Amino acid sequence: GTLSVAAILAETARRTPDRTALVIGEHAVRYGPLWDQTRSYAGALAARGIGPGSRVALLIPNVPDFPRVYYAVLSLGAVVVPVHLLLKSGEIEHVLRDSGASLLVVAAPLLAEGLPAAAAAGVPVVTVMLPDGNPGPRLEDEARESTPIRHYVSVNPLAPATILYTSGTTGRPKGAVSSHLALVEQVHVALIDSGEVGPDDVIFGGLPFFHTFGQSSVLNIGFRRGACVLLLPRFDPDEALALMVRHGATIFTAVPTMFLGVVQAAARTEARPPLKYAVSGGAALPVPLLEAFEKTYGAEVHEGYGLTETSPTVSFNYVGEPTRPGTVGRALWGVDVEIADPVVEDAIVYLERGRLGEVVVRGHNLFKGYLGNPEATASVLVDGWFRTGDLGTLSADGVLTIVDRKKDMIVRNGYNVYPREVEDVMVRHPAVAQVAVFGVPDDAHGQEVQAAVVLAPGAEATAQEILDFTRERVAAYKYPRVVHVRESLPTGVSGKLLKRELVAQYLA
Ligand code: ATP
Repeated sequence: GTLSVAAILAETARRTPDRTALVIGEHAVRYGPLWDQTRSYAGALAARGIGPGSRVALLIPNVPDFPRVYYAVLSLGAVVVPVHLLLKSGEIEHVLRDSGASLLVVAAPLLAEGLPAAAAAGVPVVTVMLPDGNPGPRLEDEARESTPIRHYVSVNPLAPATILYTSGTTGRPKGAVSSHLALVEQVHVALIDSGEVGPDDVIFGGLPFFHTFGQSSVLNIGFRRGACVLLLPRFDPDEALALMVRHGATIFTAVPTMFLGVVQAAARTEARPPLKYAVSGGAALPVPLLEAFEKTYGAEVHEGYGLTETSPTVSFNYVGEPTRPGTVGRALWGVDVEIADPVVEDAIVYLERGRLGEVVVRGHNLFKGYLGNPEATASVLVDGWFRTGDLGTLSADGVLTIVDRKKDMIVRNGYNVYPREVEDVMVRHPAVAQVAVFGVPDDAHGQEVQAAVVLAPGAEATAQEILDFTRERVAAYKYPRVVHVRESLPTGVSGKLLKRELVAQYLA
């Protein structure tokens, strides 16, 4: 068989060339021209020797050149290696070397980190977004001098399409390889069963495209249905709200910290976008925040769960069905979820329904493995299942609840404490906007429970008050003995809380 993720853009351009694909600032890009530009970028890349199997690294923010280069690389049968925008040159160098990239396409604002990385790894560079007249090489110039490709290359559906580097808790980031089939099937399954996305939809595009969530749930799903994606290269809550109002956003797809941002921004203006629904993923969405968003924006929130290794969606609170706040919904079609004994690592031992254990996943969406790292791959791909490292429960009717990450679990005096359970209690304190519970090593108890809290704008509460509030509501071994009140919590560019970074700040 043959297939390509590039068909997602090519087909939509063929059917609806005049519809708007992207909006950035006051500038709109239509599907027809977008595919034409993609074909000429592909021509330029082909002239540089990029072809089936080549790996091309992308260091580009959410601007129109991201999808142009992304689909251009895929249309040649080459593999996209999107690079996290916040990486420093040493980290980029690792990605370039590890992926075997034969080219780095870098956006002008990221040259300072990209150039030294490429030089160190011996990888050639071509730029986008570089104003005319600057010393190149510029992909635009090369596109003008080469012949656009006519069609995308058909590839084996199981051939690699993307290599996405996970931030990695221990050791260096690993490259998760996903196939064309996994990416395309994700889009189709999500759209058939649960995504009411149509050509008239306007999707908020603040999730970074280098990450699996933005790439699949915004870019590929939006483009597959010919919707319009609103680009916001740097997330800012007030700008996000203004952008959605100005362009009539109908779908808000985001991570929880973005939900919090736009709920707070709504207190500063009366205008609201005509949202049909919202999609949350990437991290746990606290129920009070879900409720606050639904009340403020008059749109239901559908929470889903996924990982880079599952390309990404595993389960979802389906659109069109009653949602179950606090759960991550039911498995997608063709995706099996089980709860396995977390202690038995080299085999999958199913637990009874309702019991807490490690979430394991099977299906068309599974990655092919970590590039060049058979040991790491073997430790997570067991008996045909992928071990997610997340702890959860599955109800009798197949609804999945994520309790916490295995590695975030705290063991205090031999008792397991799941930070998320405590966070869910603390976030109900009226003055608390954001909270993270974590464990620090402790001589007396093995680990001690601590919490970092960000107060809601204008709210006042002392650390002791928040501690007392929590102590009244959870068992004695669970409540945080220390509460740190802070201005902010460390978050990555994808908007996810960086818990390990937070913990590191309290270890020194
Ligand atoms: P790293 O690169 O360090 O592995 P990461 O674990 O955040 O970073 P991702 O693939 O981006 O990598 O995220 C997957 C993880 O995000 C899941 O394993 C899970 O812990 C968390 N997650 C995603 N969606 C949800 C959700 N709805 N509720 C709770 N946790 C979630």
